[in-house]
Amino acid sequence: MPDIIPIAKPYLTEEEALAAQKAILSGWVTQGPRVEEFENDFANYTGATYAVAVSSCTAALHLALLVNGVGPGDEVICPSLSFIATANAIGYTGAKPIFAEIDTNTLNLNPSQIEKHITIRTRAILVVHQIGLPAEIEVLSNICRKHNLALVEDAACAAGSKYNGKLIGSHSDLVCFSFHPRKVITTGDGGMITTSNPDYYTRLKRLRQHGMSIDDRERHGSNKIIKEEYLEKGFNYRMTDIQAAVGISQLKKLDWLVAERRKIAQQYREALSDISTIKLPHENEKCVSNYQSFSIYIKNNCPLTRDEIMQRLLSDGITTRPGIMSAHRERAYNTENATYSLPVTEDYSDRSFLIPLYVPMEKEEIERVILGLKNILS
Ligand SMILES: *Cc1c(COP(=O)(O)O)cnc(C)c1O
Repeated sequence: MPDIIPIAKPYLTEEEALAAQKAILSGWVTQGPRVEEFENDFANYTGATYAVAVSSCTAALHLALLVNGVGPGDEVICPSLSFIATANAIGYTGAKPIFAEIDTNTLNLNPSQIEKHITIRTRAILVVHQIGLPAEIEVLSNICRKHNLALVEDAACAAGSKYNGKLIGSHSDLVCFSFHPRKVITTGDGGMITTSNPDYYTRLKRLRQHGMSIDDRERHGSNKIIKEEYLEKGFNYRMTDIQAAVGISQLKKLDWLVAERRKIAQQYREALSDISTIKLPHENEKCVSNYQSFSIYIKNNCPLTRDEIMQRLLSDGITTRPGIMSAHRERAYNTENATYSLPVTEDYSDRSFLIPLYVPMEKEEIERVILGLKNILS
């Protein structure tokens, strides 16, 4: 059996380890000065006015919906073709996810399929930038404006991706990122919300910390006794200073990581684009992907099934993963009275798979993946 090529690897070095060590030895390990520094760096990077660090993107999505007033009885339109956390975050607020169809070019919400789902109960659209491919934010935000709906972006996979020449995080008022190790930069676990709305900023900071009127740093730095108040029911969604120390280091590498990932993706594209049995991810000038993942769709003319292809690749030592899941078919959402018609989503989910892409990826590894695919598919 040849060496196994993994599906993904986080890019973590001695630098991140030393940053974490410094944070630990500083005596301040929970949300503190390093979290604030990471937030400032992240806001500067994306071009948003503010950034609020939290414990995960799932927490970020939950808070972003809450500050929009989403609650019980409301409906939020989102794709089913996403990691289940997208739908779950809507559920946490008491609202109901309404699954809409995707466009197979962008793998994201198809703007032309949104309006049929809008009812009197619709409060927001939760758009996902799946595997780093930017969604049609402009078109979707026009729909939101027209129907007076909030727009929340699930940019879990999309740190460093661009839409219309601007980084994801700078287009709308609630953009949620993930730093899970499967994303392009990581803090172990962690999340961030970017916003340019000062009211959202204040409320997000309060909600992540038990609804408390002041934060620990203010109290710690004060020479007067400060008694905090609890202004509303909040959560413990804080990021630690240890995580933030790692994040500060990781963020400095983001542009380079995206450039490296795009080089690998380009090699895949050049080598695979003339195979007639598959369809590769779509990219145009408007949408620049960070290639958090590289997805391959198996067309109907392919004599092999997706699972057969994945099994053969694994025998060659090449790890793959089944395509992006579809939440509406999971037991958590596929309840007795649920009726969904999402044929495009189901087809894409069932006929696609992800191939290895990480930094650094050796030339020999890239070639093995390409050769493996070519041998099986041509
Ligand atoms: C990873 C992911 C999430 C969840 O992020 P966490 O930081 O693990 O909570 C949400 N949405 C999408 C699209 C994801 O890929």
